[in-house]
Amino acid sequence: MPGFEVFGEEEKKQVLDVFDTGILFRYEFDKERQGVYKVREFERAFSGYTGAGFAQAVTSGTAALKVALAALGVGAGDEVITQGFTFVATWEAIFDIGAIPVFTEVDETLNMDPVDLAKKITEKTKAIIPVHMLGAQARIQEIMAVAEGHSIPVLEDTAQAAGARINGRHLGTFGSIGTFSFDSVKTMTTGEGGMCITKDEELWRKMSEYHDHGHDHVVNPGGRGGEGRRFIGFNYRMMELQGAIGLAQLAKLDQMIAAQKKTKQLLKEAAAKIPGVSFRNLIDEQGDSATFFAFMLPDKEHAAKVNTVLRENGAGAINFGENSWHFYPSWEHLIGAKTLADNGWPFSAHGKRRIIYDPDTLPASAELMNRTLVYQIPVRMSEEQRDNIIHALAKASQL
Ligand SMILES: *Cc1c(COP(=O)(O)O)cnc(C)c1O
Repeated sequence: MPGFEVFGEEEKKQVLDVFDTGILFRYEFDKERQGVYKVREFERAFSGYTGAGFAQAVTSGTAALKVALAALGVGAGDEVITQGFTFVATWEAIFDIGAIPVFTEVDETLNMDPVDLAKKITEKTKAIIPVHMLGAQARIQEIMAVAEGHSIPVLEDTAQAAGARINGRHLGTFGSIGTFSFDSVKTMTTGEGGMCITKDEELWRKMSEYHDHGHDHVVNPGGRGGEGRRFIGFNYRMMELQGAIGLAQLAKLDQMIAAQKKTKQLLKEAAAKIPGVSFRNLIDEQGDSATFFAFMLPDKEHAAKVNTVLRENGAGAINFGENSWHFYPSWEHLIGAKTLADNGWPFSAHGKRRIIYDPDTLPASAELMNRTLVYQIPVRMSEEQRDNIIHALAKASQL
């Protein structure tokens, strides 16, 4: 990651097709657009690539989560369970639909711990969102088993793991809906953009209508203005330029992953020599999209020592225990209930507190995140950059 590293003639050509017609809107203008329907084509290609059946393009990965939650019938007062190690977008979408996020621990997959998930389910739980963080698999089959035991739908936040699989089956196709992000730092990118996939036609229909002001998309002689509606929607429509870029990027995704895998293997071999090192638990190493390389040390002090050496050698790693955007205890705006709403929503309303977030509620995740070090793997890492990291890891192995 990110896919802009491989922008080339293919993306340019796709975008020029759109400029040749001048139609940036994904619907209507049937005469003027001369058969160019890039967003529709992108949805079909993405659905085909993942084997999902149906795909709905939207404006962002965050919008994708919200549109999916809407289609699953989540609303005010419901609880939605996700993990404490994720990007803020996952729980922003839960709040935005009116529901309350509940956070689970992560285990050495760096994703949702299914045992902790089982403990957090209540009669208010309306959906479960495991996140496939850092390019690789959550224990999705175990999570599905827990969820199915309670008849709760699973929404897979696959924003960071496009193209990743388990035994050939794409992440995002295990739950009721899978969502993806194509923002500017994701493996495949359209600048901004997102996708929802599902095998359930009625869920897809709801997402299609909700993301377009409720338009039922039933063709009739009145055109768009004459379309009916079943419920209140919103506008999360993707534009044709994004669909065009998405088509070119999707065609390169498997090659990007293959390049990342090669680099990751070299880094892993170098890191394996560090005393006490262990690696992130991958459910299917073959299906890893290899956008990140994560390794663990026995404890926080050990990890800090190793990272000091890596930094001194110009190749410091990310410690998500210190990163403020991806880990629960550092979300001070969540913990401090900071909202723009004068009445305190979503944390409180009408003088009543709805929920309090305790920063110490995920001790196992904190212990794990503090001793985990992570490198991002660019699609095109220069040999110099790569050898620099390998050299730094070799220095750390002499500790
Ligand atoms: C990037 C990301 C999102 C949100 O995607 P945007 O397209 O930036 O809105 C959601 N979840 C996770 C885990 C992400 O990394």
